[in-house]
Amino acid sequence: MKQTSAGHSTCDEAPGRVVPVVDPRRCEDKGPCVEACPYDVFEIRKLTPGERGALPLLTRFKVWVHGGRQAFVVRPDSCHACGLCVTACPEKAITLAKAPGA
Ligand code: SF4
Repeated sequence: MKQTSAGHSTCDEAPGRVVPVVDPRRCEDKGPCVEACPYDVFEIRKLTPGERGALPLLTRFKVWVHGGRQAFVVRPDSCHACGLCVTACPEKAITLAKAPGA
């Protein structure tokens, strides 16, 4: 594997073929996806009231217990399909899916 200037491992897969998907029922704001991704695809932030309201009741409670924060995919087009985020997540909250239009 190659290394980015920040010292992260990268892969040669072209971006835009797959996107990571975060399962809000599993994400617990632990953040290793942010550290693992060489392409800054993720961001951890507080859910908006609308996002919280769209979750099932038990998930809303779980999110509240974890400070109301979760991981979000903010740069899906930058994903190179290396899978580092999938491996890094201790909650198995991330999967890779075919990108829309790919
Ligand atoms: S698979 Fe995960 S870690 Fe790798 S580039 Fe895509 S979002 Fe980042």
